[in-house]
Amino acid sequence: MTLVTVDVHTHLGERGTHVGGPLADDEMRVWGRTHWDVTPAGHAAAAAAATASVVLAFDAEPVGTVVPNEYVAKAVADKPNLIGFASVNPTRPDAAARLRHAVEDLGLYGLKLGPTYQHFHPHDPACLDLLEIADHYGIPVVWHQGTTFTRAAIAEFARPLQLDLPARRFPALRMWIAHFGHPWTAEALSVVRRHEHFYVDVSAMDTRPWQLAQALATASEYQVFDRVLFGSDYPFSTVERTITGLHRAAALCRSLGIANVTASDIDHICARDAVALLGLRPRPPRSSQQPPGP
Ligand SMILES: [Zn+2]
Repeated sequence: MTLVTVDVHTHLGERGTHVGGPLADDEMRVWGRTHWDVTPAGHAAAAAAATASVVLAFDAEPVGTVVPNEYVAKAVADKPNLIGFASVNPTRPDAAARLRHAVEDLGLYGLKLGPTYQHFHPHDPACLDLLEIADHYGIPVVWHQGTTFTRAAIAEFARPLQLDLPARRFPALRMWIAHFGHPWTAEALSVVRRHEHFYVDVSAMDTRPWQLAQALATASEYQVFDRVLFGSDYPFSTVERTITGLHRAAALCRSLGIANVTASDIDHICARDAVALLGLRPRPPRSSQQPPGP
């Protein structure tokens, strides 16, 4: 059943093959279980909850995890509801060639960066060079700019405010911060407020009702609620759990009297057409897909 229009944050990747190293070890240490072990078939089943879903590659060798661009491109091929995003570590010597290949040959539609996982500062000239290529192609960029559970990440590179310079440098580039930039949700929203093409997604916040309520209230106070995008962070959460968490946080805002976030405000997040906002190629809804020929 389709519940949301666009889920802008989902993962693929199989444990042992793609997901490993300290990130996989720390997932067990912190959560006591493995979330990130997703085959294309498992992902496709979960993606039925949205009309379209962004599927992220993840180029994070420093934390032992690489979900290759080629793997994502293959998984989304012939699936009009799946929108593949590349991931390229800007510190790779061939970073520019990798991104061009991902866009021109693999047909991927955006770029995922995670400075804390990829061990670079967002102001690094190598990062700005990569953003220039993204700007040239007009592909959106999603940043994991927030905390993470793995000790192999570098926390100094994780603050949302570090994205103000890239946003100033590339004012037309569509970019967003994943997970509301938690725990620095207000800081993330201060960047969104300053730059008209900057967004946030709500993914992985359903288990953090206090932070999510504060983030929704701050988005309302800064009048940037229309730039809050729906994301589930599947397999760390699901579309259904994310919707439930949003409604619970909205109710918390109202009961505390900190913001009048209504059920209809949450419905608008779920219905937001991120494909249009981010300039992604429009995809036909699943229901209009042609059945296979005879
Ligand atoms: Zn994620």
